[in-house]
Amino acid sequence: MAVIHARHALLPSGLACNVRLTLSAGTIATVETGAAPLPGDERHEMVLPAVGNVHSHAFQRAMAGLTELRGPSADNFWSWRREMYRIGLNMSPEHVEAVAAQLYMEMLEAGFGRVGEFHYLHHDPSGVPYADPAEMALRIAEASRTVGIGLTLLPVFYAHADFGGAPPLAGQRRYIHDVDGFASLVARCEAIVAELPGGVCGVAPHSLRAVTADELAAVVALSAGPVHIHAAEQVAEVERCLAQTGAPPVQWLLDNTPADGRWCFIHATHIDADEVRGIAARGVVAGLCPITESNLGDGIFPAGAFLEAGGRIAIGSDSNVDISLRRELRTLEYSQRLSQRARNVIAHPGGSTGQRLLHEASCGGAAAIGGMAGIAPGAPADLAALDMASVPWLPADKALDHFVFAGGIGVDTVWCGGVRRVEGGRHVQRDAIEARFAAARHDLMRHDPL
Ligand code: ZN
Repeated sequence: MAVIHARHALLPSGLACNVRLTLSAGTIATVETGAAPLPGDERHEMVLPAVGNVHSHAFQRAMAGLTELRGPSADNFWSWRREMYRIGLNMSPEHVEAVAAQLYMEMLEAGFGRVGEFHYLHHDPSGVPYADPAEMALRIAEASRTVGIGLTLLPVFYAHADFGGAPPLAGQRRYIHDVDGFASLVARCEAIVAELPGGVCGVAPHSLRAVTADELAAVVALSAGPVHIHAAEQVAEVERCLAQTGAPPVQWLLDNTPADGRWCFIHATHIDADEVRGIAARGVVAGLCPITESNLGDGIFPAGAFLEAGGRIAIGSDSNVDISLRRELRTLEYSQRLSQRARNVIAHPGGSTGQRLLHEASCGGAAAIGGMAGIAPGAPADLAALDMASVPWLPADKALDHFVFAGGIGVDTVWCGGVRRVEGGRHVQRDAIEARFAAARHDLMRHDPL
């Protein structure tokens, strides 16, 4: 049984001093506060819960930083999507596993402890299922096992290019299923994650663009796990949904599905005050992806109003252009400041913004992708210790704000399921994982330099 003594730790009740944690069989067995360290304890200055990253498309890590060149006309989400489809068409199962391993390693180093993989690259490049239709899901699972991150696998159902059951585009051929084929895939995915420590499986109808109402109901009925769906990321998508159904996507989902605490609406960017209240009242988690939403020019989610309405938020890295827990949280708060011309929007009155951001992301992340949140008995032993060595002058009650906003504090050690995977800020297998990623990336560059 490992024992960690933290001079300070972020508990569900707030920051606590002299916290002694015992870890057993992948979970936190006991939490004692005001406790002196004992000989043999592993000692750290500041320990946080490692946060769930609720929304990832792993293969997109391969194109990070390669789509920042302006095209002949104005660029937007849809022109980016064309590039994303192109690189996705070239990736083999080996490429996907190597890229996912690199990505998941970077997530652990950033202080994330679990990933919700919204997995939609299913078939071979011609659009035909692999001999094992879950080949790509297996590669994702293997990457998570190699790296040691908790996996919530969310196989994606994708059937149409647009509202009204429009046939899929040629560029979408690797994603497409009918409901029966998808049901088989979900059964395989459930078997695959059952072999992983702490593995969770759910379903992800891609978006209201990509599924009909009947398909949505059938897909949701296939799983007792989390249900994730993209919603209201783009104004054009909201307008098309309104024209087609008479309601914007989030309102349509609230009116026509049993959406509740099992559900996570990814983005939910363009919503009105009724939708803000509706999502909050139903207990649906809003899965926000602040860096990707900035990178793609999506818009700004009304996080301040949503939290005030009692809503739950979680963080995802989505396109995986930049893997950083603290920059996700900082970008979320800054987007609120820019839109409201105010400061410390997310904080409780009189409270720390960094602490609230971390607390909400931890609780919402656990709710959205499985597991119990926070540093508490019975919760998964997913923990991150900060490196406080460079700021010996900093009072502990300012440390989380400094971590999120000032950038002078790094993540030092990360445990996932009680196993230490990151030491001194580096994943323990970094060199091998990085070498495999570099080889895959070189190979992809030969096919398509982007
Ligand atoms: Zn997404």
